[in-house]
Amino acid sequence: MSAKKVKIGNIFIGGGEPIAVQSMTNTDTADYAATTAQLAALREAGCDIARLAVRNFADVEVCKKYVEECAMPLVADIQFDCRLAIACADIGFAKVRYNPGNTTASGLKELVAACRANSCPIRIGINGGSLEKDIKEKHGGATADALAESAMRSVHALENANFFDIVISVKSSDVATCVNAYEILAKSCDYPLHIGITESGWGEDAVIKSSAGIGAMLLRGVGDTLRVSLTGDPVREVEVGKSILSAVGLNKNFVEIISCPTCARCFYDLETLVVKCKAMTKNVRKPLKIAVMGCAVNGPGEAADADIGIAGGKDKAVLFKKGVIVETLPTKEAEEKFTTMLGELIK
Ligand code: SF4
Repeated sequence: MSAKKVKIGNIFIGGGEPIAVQSMTNTDTADYAATTAQLAALREAGCDIARLAVRNFADVEVCKKYVEECAMPLVADIQFDCRLAIACADIGFAKVRYNPGNTTASGLKELVAACRANSCPIRIGINGGSLEKDIKEKHGGATADALAESAMRSVHALENANFFDIVISVKSSDVATCVNAYEILAKSCDYPLHIGITESGWGEDAVIKSSAGIGAMLLRGVGDTLRVSLTGDPVREVEVGKSILSAVGLNKNFVEIISCPTCARCFYDLETLVVKCKAMTKNVRKPLKIAVMGCAVNGPGEAADADIGIAGGKDKAVLFKKGVIVETLPTKEAEEKFTTMLGELIK
């Protein structure tokens, strides 16, 4: 995690703060109703920071309303036109994503002045496609070293303009390249890193690719804010982001369901019960651990730290709390009692 802390609206990233989960709207930014609805859905799913693509001055006009109304810090994503980045800092965006290499010296000076006046950090976002020609040639392509060098060139451009409110991302769709690039950056500077695997694709494959990359970085202590980039509804990005944080132990505020893979010793419909428990606890933000195990021989022992658990048997099932059996009941009754106990716990 970075040493430096940067303020994004009403939250901080870096400097040991909790990892913020980000996403990006994929509605038409100028479509107020659709974008407002999507921002609300993202917030509901637990998104900490949302980004919008700002393509022109008509978008900037509509964005004034989002900035005013949305409780989440909003980030303006600008590709080339520095004047748009300046306008976005001026209307109160919490951060702008803009690469200094895309403007002239005077443009950069104006952007830095606007961002400083509005306490608006700049995220440098480097990806394989945006690499400078000389850096690409030097490293023989979009390697991890090339991505990191390009990012540091942009960092130095901002530092030379006396601007230090910086967040960095270097994205590649290749997991190993991406992880290595972030590791190099983490050693090269103290700025917060926005991590993710870009263009990771669609569906389960994309979730696995993102989880492998983001999980690897977080376990090495690299990353201060994350975005899981998935084709489709951005709400899914937030759900996956939260799950990755939970899986690597950086989010304790959720209901963890421990369940066994089942084997010939399991005599009840464990999977249906797990699915039911998952549905009951999906949006519960409480540090709880519950266990649904296939048999009483191994179950309570293997899930000894669960707040509550059930372990099935041939005709009867046991209910346990912190590894201690509290009741033995016919299986159907035990299942019902277990879901009642869970309902009480998550109230
Ligand atoms: S807990 Fe029991 S049923 Fe589940 S996998 Fe282990 S031995 Fe099999």
